[in-house]
Amino acid sequence: MAKIIDLFNEAADTITKEYIQQRQIISFAEYLAEFAKGPKLHLRDAAGYLLDAIDHFGSSQVAQPWGTQVRYKIFDQEFADPSERLVGQETAQNAVRAAIAGQVRDGRVNRLILIYGPNGSAKSTFIKCLFRGLAHYSRLDEGALYRFRWIFPTRKTSHGTIGFGARLKRDNLASFAHLEDDQIDATVECEVRDHPLLLLPKDQRLRVINHSLEQQGITDYQAPDHFMEASLCHRCRQVADALMRTHQGDIRKVLAHIQVERWAISRRYRRGLVQVGPQMSADASQRQVTADRNLSALPIELQNMTLFETFGPLVDGAGGMVEFEDMLKRPIDAFKYLLGTIETGEVMLGQSILKLNTVLLATTNDDMLEAFRGHHEFPSFRDRLTLVPVPYITQRSSEQRIYELQLVPNLGRHTAPHAVAAVAHWAVLSRLHKPDHNNYPKPIRNIIKKLTVKEKCDLYNDGTCPQGLSSEERALLRESLNDMRAEDSTGWAYEGRYGASPRLIRQVLLRASLSDEFECLSPFAVIEELKQLATKVREHPFLEREKEDGGYHHHDAFADIVEDQVLDAIENDVRSASGLVEESRYEDLLTRYVNHVSHVVKGEKLLSETTDTYEEPDESMMSSVEKKLGLEKNIKEFRENLISRIAAKAIENPGEKISPAMVFPEYLRRLKAAYFEENRQKVAAAARPALAILNEEDKYLEKDEKKTGKMLIKNLTKSDNYCKKCTRDALVRLLSKRFDKK
Ligand SMILES: [Zn+2]
Ligand SMILES: [Zn+2]
Repeated sequence: MAKIIDLFNEAADTITKEYIQQRQIISFAEYLAEFAKGPKLHLRDAAGYLLDAIDHFGSSQVAQPWGTQVRYKIFDQEFADPSERLVGQETAQNAVRAAIAGQVRDGRVNRLILIYGPNGSAKSTFIKCLFRGLAHYSRLDEGALYRFRWIFPTRKTSHGTIGFGARLKRDNLASFAHLEDDQIDATVECEVRDHPLLLLPKDQRLRVINHSLEQQGITDYQAPDHFMEASLCHRCRQVADALMRTHQGDIRKVLAHIQVERWAISRRYRRGLVQVGPQMSADASQRQVTADRNLSALPIELQNMTLFETFGPLVDGAGGMVEFEDMLKRPIDAFKYLLGTIETGEVMLGQSILKLNTVLLATTNDDMLEAFRGHHEFPSFRDRLTLVPVPYITQRSSEQRIYELQLVPNLGRHTAPHAVAAVAHWAVLSRLHKPDHNNYPKPIRNIIKKLTVKEKCDLYNDGTCPQGLSSEERALLRESLNDMRAEDSTGWAYEGRYGASPRLIRQVLLRASLSDEFECLSPFAVIEELKQLATKVREHPFLEREKEDGGYHHHDAFADIVEDQVLDAIENDVRSASGLVEESRYEDLLTRYVNHVSHVVKGEKLLSETTDTYEEPDESMMSSVEKKLGLEKNIKEFRENLISRIAAKAIENPGEKISPAMVFPEYLRRLKAAYFEENRQKVAAAARPALAILNEEDKYLEKDEKKTGKMLIKNLTKSDNYCKKCTRDALVRLLSKRFDKK
């Protein structure tokens, strides 16, 4: 183990290294050399910078039942704390990235990205991920940002102070950037962190930009408007003008006063990242600077100027992002001002104008946005807004992930298997809408008409279709998933706006974790809490939504659906743990079946591995499998179709090993189900002695029973999923609800 002093030294070295890296102070000429090496990296406005930051972390393809979606890794927070990640919301991720890319194409920030959704959807998590990603990126080489300050060398010598007109040896320096602190009398900071290139007059600036791009062989790059249009901030302009007069137009001498340094984006220090609460209204302002000791040390020429200081969120957020939290709670005038700013790209200050260089995001809840929509001025605002919905999650595995990441580690109790899945299941059931069957292709209209809320939930979760559908119907149903998810998306009652909020679900989990009846966080305690919740109609308006056929909005019945699912899952766990059947057996059976069928179709014999002779395909095995699959007629066609589908899959995926289980997951499921039905009593026969052992009532068990019971307990508790307490709870419920029913 490392000694504590070694750990300290290691930390100290890292801090020093980072400090030096961050403090890299260079002169203006040195900055230009840096610029020439990678002009594109330096020619980014706030939108271009954010887009690069998002892309820096990369992306992945997420296979969803409704198709493949791109997920941006900035939202996974691997570089920070992954428990703070944004779960799901790939549609919103893509929409926001596209909105930022649009601003980059337009060459300037020209829209406010307004993220809306119901209370407690992941709106602020969404923005926090961008904030953290941006801050992280700015500390990397590829994210280097530069700012500058004005440096005024001391006029003091060992003989006293000399006037500004007189010459000192260091006045002949090409730059004062590297002077020691005691050789500097005064510095003037630029609060808006003007880009160092803006120090060059526009014509020269463009020449430098074009020349550098050309040198790097970059011909198709259009630098953002910011570098073409913007000029120095008011204060820097004042200082530059005064120095120009002093140095009689010698820009080299003016730029000798410039010290360039790297800066990093930081929310804590309000550098490039600012969150504005609804109560704050001044987005930027300016005030006169008085009695600043630092400024009194400036050369006489500068002392005579009235210096102004700019401040406010749009100033602090320059170069990065500003988030307006609960935007629409602000007075409409504040909002109008902001949108006016976006339209002109200019922030009006008391004495001057600031060019807007900040990505603007805002959040609001649906109710506020819906009300704002009715405002007579809304149409004039609409063009300057990009609206991005962040709804509640409607996929239960994703919903489950939220609580597993953020809540379960802090509960202080063992979490029994299926407890979190149960609550997530209920949450999603409460959010789903009955689809309008008229919107879908004829062959599946009737299926969609009969689709229950539980079936829709399963369909969204992993593409599981209702039982008894043909493979064509299943394919059509899955193809219609995107339409189904988007069915109400244009209106206010979109799917994912109403239902249980994650905040409410967290409370359910917390309360269930305090249950007296169970020592672990038990799915049965969760179900009890959910039953209670469903009765609190007055507290939770979503519970009052009109009930529809198929169980939609039947909140009082959701706990039963969830309980059934939990018992299924436990039965499954017990079955696998009791060693009754290995999972691979069904897969082997399916593979064997397909192999024999292929020989039948080709009219060939097959080589038996046991006898090493050619034999006829095993007709009794095949028909037993077909019976389990529920097939009665058209067996010949079914077999031919089966083989051609495998062949088609092989052509689609050259070089890949195609297993029948991959091509026919539904058949695998059906084989399993048929087998389970035949062997259900064996599950109970393993569960009963196991429960007796856990209850210390195993005196009268037969030797075999003891062995079975012990093995079940051992296997269930082998991984960390079940502890002995929740194994007992699970077995009690499984037996009483499923096997020992009177
Ligand atoms: Zn400035
Ligand atoms: Zn437990």
